[in-house]
Amino acid sequence: STQEKTPQICVVGSGPAGFYTAQHLLKQHPQAHVDIYEKQPVPFGLVRFGVAPDHPEVKNVINTFTQTAHSGRCAFWGNVEVGRDVTVPELQEAYHAVVLSYGAEDHRALEIPGEELPGVCSARAFVGWYNGLPENQELEPDLSCDTAVILGQGNVALDVARILLTPPEHLERTDITKAALGVLRQSRVKTVWLVGRRGPLQVAFTIKELREMIQLPGARPILDPVDFLGLQDKIKEVPRPRKRLTELLLRTATEKPGPAEAARQASASRAWGLRFFRSPQQVLPSPDGRRAAGVRLAVTRLEGVDEATRAVPTGDMEDLPCGLVLSSIGYKSRPVDPSVPFDSKLGVIPNVEGRVMDVPGLYCSGWVKRGPTGVIATTMTDSFLTGQMLLQDLKAGLLPSGPRPGYAAIQALLSSRGVRPVSFSDWEKLDAEEVARGQGTGKPREKLVDPQEMLRLLGH
Ligand code: FAD
Repeated sequence: STQEKTPQICVVGSGPAGFYTAQHLLKQHPQAHVDIYEKQPVPFGLVRFGVAPDHPEVKNVINTFTQTAHSGRCAFWGNVEVGRDVTVPELQEAYHAVVLSYGAEDHRALEIPGEELPGVCSARAFVGWYNGLPENQELEPDLSCDTAVILGQGNVALDVARILLTPPEHLERTDITKAALGVLRQSRVKTVWLVGRRGPLQVAFTIKELREMIQLPGARPILDPVDFLGLQDKIKEVPRPRKRLTELLLRTATEKPGPAEAARQASASRAWGLRFFRSPQQVLPSPDGRRAAGVRLAVTRLEGVDEATRAVPTGDMEDLPCGLVLSSIGYKSRPVDPSVPFDSKLGVIPNVEGRVMDVPGLYCSGWVKRGPTGVIATTMTDSFLTGQMLLQDLKAGLLPSGPRPGYAAIQALLSSRGVRPVSFSDWEKLDAEEVARGQGTGKPREKLVDPQEMLRLLGH
């Protein structure tokens, strides 16, 4: 049938999930055509707007995505927000299958009093700010205080702590935005606390990120050996990656550093520390009530074993003064269209191996499928799996038969709505402009942060 010959497929979102799904479909089906729709005028999702500027090697996946986009059977349409500019049912009408790969664009709220005070922001917004995400360019974080508290102990929390404490001259040759670098140069933040409800065995960051913190120039770690009592025995039983991570924490907390390291630490002007067994109860206001001045923490202890370990309050409280509070307790997906089932409790599209429940022809991959955890490699594996399920369904004749118009139909809709999509070759013009703007200052690129300016540069 036609659909088996030239299936028209569209993918919503151009992060790792979108691109890896497209890659799989194009590779495994010699005729499939894939259109990728993206709400930003630029591609690559969190690879551009999440991954830290001092981790350029992680962004090499962009080369693979670019190869996919260059396929004659693939097209990128940026500046198109699905759910606003075009609906999911309209896409389903135009394509044989639709894959939702739109990630997790919200943050989980703390849901504690004082959260709305100036001086409190989400790590998601902070990351978006230094990485040039248009919607976060007005954030203007106030770094005039000497202590910042990050609530959360995952990789994003460590990224944020590292960016706050890295000597700005070490960021000069990264793709961090000019504006963010300017604010970081004026920063007076000397100490960053990372607060977690549970203990050293439950941290959610990985060893690479921890090592970078331990070796951060001009900064020393503050760990309380008491938090590590009895851990030596427990780590024998944990899986290897967790074991290596905990051993590194344990050594850093309890072993006396050698002379070189001791000298380095003594001369460090900045510090970071992990505060374990503390659950945030309230953001404390300054005396005039206008800003955040600290966080009230409930002391906790652990109950249960292994995966089921829970933090329960002991009844003790502790106030931690600070001028900046960054909540880093997770990202969250939003529903995209009323026609698509959404599990608001788990924050995912309910699915079985990427097949959206009860909606034939609709699929999902990446963070919106699994929830907002896992690195790019995890996202790749799960996106390949979704692609595989889709192709199985195609082969089994479960997708609509007969030809579908694909982009031709959507283009007509978009143009009637005054939406001008940005193609991949348009992106390559913006890319060249960014690289050129970075050249004078030795940066790999100076990101364009204003969508209006991007569209102007393209003559839209
Ligand atoms: P995303 O990358 O978020 O892509 C979703 C895309 O969909 C976005 O481009 C978005 O604009 C678009 N979109 C959203 N809504 C719509 C809509 N309505 N219409 C059209 N398009 C839409 N992993 C690593 O391996 N190494 C790291 O160093 C690393 N650092 C990270 C740092 C941070 C701060 C974060 C948050 C994550 C990091 N990760 C890292 C994890 C990695 O980024 C994710 O695994 C991966 O990006 C998830 O891919 P995704 O495609 O599901 O989501």
